[in-house]
Amino acid sequence: MKQIKYKSTRGGQKNISPSQAIIQGIASDGGLFVPEEMPKLEYSLEKLKDMNYQKLAYTIMQHFLTDFTEDELRECVNKAYDTKFDTPKIAPVVKKDGVYFLELFHGPTLAFKDMALSILPYLLKTAAKKLNIEKEIVILTATSGDTGKAALEGFANVEGTKIIVFFPQDGVSEIQKRQMTTQTGNNTYVIGIEGNFDDAQNGVKEIFGDKEFNKKLNENNYMLSSANSINIGRLVPQVVYYFYAYFQMVKEKEISLGDIFNVVVPTGNFGNILAAYYAKQMGLPVGKLICASNDNKVLYDFFNTGKYDKDREFILTISPSMDILISSNLERLIFKIAGEDTNKTKELMETLKVKGNYEITNEMKERLGDFYGGFATQEETLKRIKELFEKTGYLIDTHTAVAYAVYKDYVSKTKDMTKTVIASTASPYKFTTSVMGAIDKKYKDYSDFELIEKMNELTKKDIPKGIKDIDKRPILHNKVCKKNDMKKVVEEIL
Ligand SMILES: *Cc1c(COP(=O)(O)O)cnc(C)c1O
Repeated sequence: MKQIKYKSTRGGQKNISPSQAIIQGIASDGGLFVPEEMPKLEYSLEKLKDMNYQKLAYTIMQHFLTDFTEDELRECVNKAYDTKFDTPKIAPVVKKDGVYFLELFHGPTLAFKDMALSILPYLLKTAAKKLNIEKEIVILTATSGDTGKAALEGFANVEGTKIIVFFPQDGVSEIQKRQMTTQTGNNTYVIGIEGNFDDAQNGVKEIFGDKEFNKKLNENNYMLSSANSINIGRLVPQVVYYFYAYFQMVKEKEISLGDIFNVVVPTGNFGNILAAYYAKQMGLPVGKLICASNDNKVLYDFFNTGKYDKDREFILTISPSMDILISSNLERLIFKIAGEDTNKTKELMETLKVKGNYEITNEMKERLGDFYGGFATQEETLKRIKELFEKTGYLIDTHTAVAYAVYKDYVSKTKDMTKTVIASTASPYKFTTSVMGAIDKKYKDYSDFELIEKMNELTKKDIPKGIKDIDKRPILHNKVCKKNDMKKVVEEIL
């Protein structure tokens, strides 16, 4: 395997080992780690096509994590993708209404974040061991709802770690909130903030960038790391399932090996779709990457105008995990289309910070041809949930529905009939009020929790054990803080 090193998109760090990049999470200059050279698939698709999820995960991830031994990486994979997923397929593809849903929500917290966060703790621990780090690792995470719970679940009771999660107090669904505030584990801390997701994410980024504070933590034998999708340890595991989806479609004879397929991803922080882009660069035959946004359509505007502008009203929608105005991982794409020019990337990111917007050059714009940006309003999203359910009996969550709506719109506009997979990022059980409300107005008088039962009656699909009786579990976390007090809270905990 060709050795891969990482560097910062802003030029401040290079020749960094995969382990070091995972441990650090974010580069010291505020940039994100990217492979110095994108690994190319070292096997034929034919060779990979019959692998089960675990084998494929090992095979794809070894291209990126080249300083992990085979035993180390296999152990990480096997510990992550086991019976905590409710199907041995881990991420099944189902065909409905002529399109393919890649169900990424079969893990313990019912959202696609489990795909990466069930393995990240093992990657981190292995990396720390390789680097002889004996400090306690403190995972600091901002969440728009799903990352937090998946990270808590992944890190709970993992020796040598603590996990601190900040979530927007009024910006997540009732079920998401309850999932987090009932989290067990003696190393878990959950704090609501008075602000939105961007506030939480900015607060966390600031703590990471605070040299003084980090020095103090180091003296007290702690080191910070991130479970957000800026960590390549999150990104790399997500590359796997695009290959897996492709091979499932080949197996079902929907496509032949070598044919291209399109991918639609409901997008927030641009992590999931970036993983699909990386898969394409490795050699997976992906055609278009369709980036689906909700009403917070910064990315739609970006792809259509070349201008990124975060200064706009933040809209709380029925797809809260996509309610984001600063898509952190876009920086990795910017870096790529800037011809890997770290100065240019740094300049644009600083402009964003100071001015609230930036515009890419025409040359950069021309390199965006792999992408298509679309968005769906809340009304369209709800309509599509109902329509698909009535047609097929298949119920999708609000995030997946944004992608489905954008896909429908894409086909009617472009007539592109390439076989397409939609990343289905959450179980409808996680967003019962919106999903059931889309089906019938009569459900609007019930609570999120009552609707879990109603959804079960309607779909006859078992209630996932991650949320069964969730309203009866004791609330273990009830701390709320102001957005400017996040550092203080972290200090108090440690
Ligand atoms: C996090 C999340 C998204 C957005 O994914 P990104 O990688 O941040 O673009 C979409 N849907 C659901 C359900 C999520 O939890």
